[in-house]
Amino acid sequence: MPELKFNTAEEIDAAYITLQATFRAGTTRPLSWRKRQLNQVILMLRENIEAIVQALATDLRKPRLEALGGEIGPMVRRAKQSAAQLDEWARDESPQVPEWQRAWSPTILKRPKGVILVVSPWNYPIYLSLQPIIGAIAAGCPAVLKPSEVSPNVSSLLADLFPKYLDPSAYRVINGGVPEITHVLKLKWDHITYTGNGTVARIISRAAAEHLTPVTLELGGKSPVVIDPETTNLKIAAKRVLWGKTLNAGQVCVAPDYVLIPRSAQDAFVEAIKEAAVELKLDGALASDSFASIVSDTHFKRLRSIMTRSSGKIVVGGDAIEEQRRITPTVYRDVKENDSLLEGEIFGPILPIVPVDNIRQAIEYINAHPHPLVLYAFTDDPEVKQALRDETRSGGLHFNDVHQHMSVDQLPFSGVGESGHGSQALKFTYDEYTYLRSSVTVPFTAEPLVSLRYPPYTEAATQALAVRSGAIEGPAAST
Ligand code: NAD
Repeated sequence: MPELKFNTAEEIDAAYITLQATFRAGTTRPLSWRKRQLNQVILMLRENIEAIVQALATDLRKPRLEALGGEIGPMVRRAKQSAAQLDEWARDESPQVPEWQRAWSPTILKRPKGVILVVSPWNYPIYLSLQPIIGAIAAGCPAVLKPSEVSPNVSSLLADLFPKYLDPSAYRVINGGVPEITHVLKLKWDHITYTGNGTVARIISRAAAEHLTPVTLELGGKSPVVIDPETTNLKIAAKRVLWGKTLNAGQVCVAPDYVLIPRSAQDAFVEAIKEAAVELKLDGALASDSFASIVSDTHFKRLRSIMTRSSGKIVVGGDAIEEQRRITPTVYRDVKENDSLLEGEIFGPILPIVPVDNIRQAIEYINAHPHPLVLYAFTDDPEVKQALRDETRSGGLHFNDVHQHMSVDQLPFSGVGESGHGSQALKFTYDEYTYLRSSVTVPFTAEPLVSLRYPPYTEAATQALAVRSGAIEGPAAST
């Protein structure tokens, strides 16, 4: 691992004090200032494409195509769209109110929550760091980014680039491991966004609760794929699912985790998977530049352990090179409940096929486990689709392909239950860091209209207020 400079407790405290002062001074409030910072994010990404691609390659052996299309591109696009739509998002709203309250000018003001803490993971270290930062800038909030020490080259690069492009009085990168983040979490933030695993999410939530700080949790879990062989194209389904497992070597929060398929169709699906593996040239994966590596020795050992302990039968792949932390995309058939591959989120290029009696049993299996980040289903049967919509819970519901919901910028990206809460992307991120402030101005001329409330209470006032409040029916009260 290359050396990543960790910040000291004194540096963390100093950054915190600076950002608080910047927020109080109102520096981040003007929309024109926010748009300039959003444009700086675009410049930071565009002027440093090669350095970013290189850092991602060093940390993850992430292919250039995936770095450009899956990390840099979406963040340039979303920073641009945020700047373009900011005026509309930030506009005050005047709700429809009853006639007698109109003179009060009831208004919903969109106001920044304050100073945001963003804690991001290693698997999409540019995307998952910058998406919340773009939202914080748009919302008028200063922010500290704490990227992952598991992707040290990207984290170090972000620490270099931030002060060159963004106002350092408002946006800072803090690097460190558990001691540093533990110190960071003692401070009172106005909102925390954490992306990562459920165990650390509980630590973050407990620390946030000490200060009653609101939290957005973007977590993971086991995202199932239901195959309805009666109504789907098995060949295309197999290719799409297998591709979903190769992207970033399966280290994607929305990677298809396991397949549920009626037992009678398993053989046909396995044949389709084998054909797809040939098409995608998976037998050459260990030497190919189209496949990422496993991020660390710890994760490599974890994956090898669940592979060797599995009682499923390998139908594709199975090879690995320890020194390069590479694993060929590997598919297992006849995987049974309690198998090592079904213990937790796989987060690697391994796909277990779990045969079930029928689609009904697949739905029951999904409902017996924590709510996934996304539920994939390959089916064109309207009844199966409706049953999945109505009878299961998941962050996203995706039919007939994998990963594509991530590329629709206008959809909220979020989990439910164990897969997290709060939403991301464009206005959804903006809304996470914005609070709605109610405002009214009651004119003195409205005194006759509010006079019913003053004691001593009379029977007539009680009756009139009962009607106005909706407690009872009657003629509208005028005074
Ligand atoms: P990680 O190990 O990089 O950890 C994430 C962050 O948590 C890092 O910044 C790290 O420093 C911090 N951290 C680690 N230990 C901590 C502690 N004790 N206290 C406070 N902070 C601590 O990443 P990871 O957890 O391995 O990430 C993978 C997980 O994230 C998977 O479960 C994946 O599904 C999920 N994920 C979810 C999304 C999403 O958008 N929903 C995106 C990517 C990954």
